[in-house]
Amino acid sequence: MPRLCSTKIVATLGPATSDPATIRQLYEAGADVFRLNFSHGSHEDHRARHAALRAVETEIGHPIGILMDLQGPKLRVGTFAGGRATLETGAMFRLDLDPAPGSAERANLPHPEIFAALADGADLLVDDGKLRLRVESHGPDFAACRVVTGGTISDRKGVNVPGVVLPISPLTEKDRRDLSFGLELGVDWVALSFVQRPEDIAEARRLVQGRAGVLAKLEKPSAIQRLEEIIELADAVMVARGDLGVEMPPETVPGTQKRIVRLSRRAGKPVIVATQMLETMISSPTPTRAEASDVATAVYDGADAVMLSAETASGRYPVEAVTIMERIIESVEHDPHYRPIMDAVEAEPERTAADAITAAARQVAHTVGASAIVTYTTSGSTTLRAARERPDVPILCLTERLATARRLMLAWGVHPVVTADVRSFEEMVSKACHFAKAQGFARSGDRVVITAGVPFGTPGATNVLRLAWVE
Ligand code: PGA
Ligand code: MN
Repeated sequence: MPRLCSTKIVATLGPATSDPATIRQLYEAGADVFRLNFSHGSHEDHRARHAALRAVETEIGHPIGILMDLQGPKLRVGTFAGGRATLETGAMFRLDLDPAPGSAERANLPHPEIFAALADGADLLVDDGKLRLRVESHGPDFAACRVVTGGTISDRKGVNVPGVVLPISPLTEKDRRDLSFGLELGVDWVALSFVQRPEDIAEARRLVQGRAGVLAKLEKPSAIQRLEEIIELADAVMVARGDLGVEMPPETVPGTQKRIVRLSRRAGKPVIVATQMLETMISSPTPTRAEASDVATAVYDGADAVMLSAETASGRYPVEAVTIMERIIESVEHDPHYRPIMDAVEAEPERTAADAITAAARQVAHTVGASAIVTYTTSGSTTLRAARERPDVPILCLTERLATARRLMLAWGVHPVVTADVRSFEEMVSKACHFAKAQGFARSGDRVVITAGVPFGTPGATNVLRLAWVE
């Protein structure tokens, strides 16, 4: 059964979805890439999920993408006497480096680098923005804050510092340990949380060394300010609306989402829209109409993928959530308005052979009504350029590299297949037709458009476009 949708689904695994049978159901319902969230769970939990995913992959005989999501420098307050305290709006509240349990007057914030980077007048947001503290004065080891929005604060709640570029790496000691563990397991993508600067991506690339794709999660206003540079350095990005919506006013998130998707599409980098997409399905078997509309908007915008977090990791209806998401995607992609809206974002080809060939492939496929574009690729870069064109037919990607096939599961419209490289022109045509038919994208008498690089087996040399009849 071919996957008929072009927009991909990323499903986060967690306690609700760790056994192979459930993972297989998620795949069959439409999940293409699975996220291992290293903010939760032990290495043993992730090792078991990774093994289950690879077992399912072997069973179904189709590549599966695995994305490891690093926790990043998530700031947290310390503990409280009795586990919690109530902060009154208008009162003063002090944050300091003293590890003693906190009270309604003070709490520990064990991050000296934050105190160094703060400015008087800056706001600290606690517990996903439920509480707001404004810095009135600060020193190297404290911040005296006015409580702007009070409420209950409890042990180890998260702290966001919007608008301040913190002198911290997006990779903590824990992230570095997790990263070498994940690369050892063999994940396909590494997501960096709380990226602030392009240098953060460069640092991660040095550690990853090409063993996985590097994905930048956009969840800090400072990253949005340097969006173009970050997209250029990363292999993919995520509109991480959970933290982004805490750090920026909620009304600015939709516009920012559109801007990120547009710039990523133009750069040919896969972009995921994430968080709270079907939030009510954590506890309800159906989504709200507003949630359905939110998923649809990301699909109309032409995002490569939409993501489920707690809905699949710990919710009561993980398989139903993927099923509904797939139905929304299918419905949008069949809507007559979909194409004109998608095509409103034009992607001018760059002056390279690969872009010239892939742009022509899209045009030829459209003009003759071909059933698929078949791309031969080693690194996956030509296939990503084909996906960037957002053609109106499926993109079949033939590669000899399993790692490339798995990574491309994230890309819009791409159906990767692992097969040995071809040695002759004739073999190039017959293999492309064979797989287009075998994968269910073409029937006898249909035509397919093939792109490849000659001489065969030289990576990065796409220079051939061939139109072929399927026998
Ligand atoms: P998280 O990232 O789920 O790891 O916090 C996504 C987001 O912030 O939206
Ligand atoms: Mn986040």
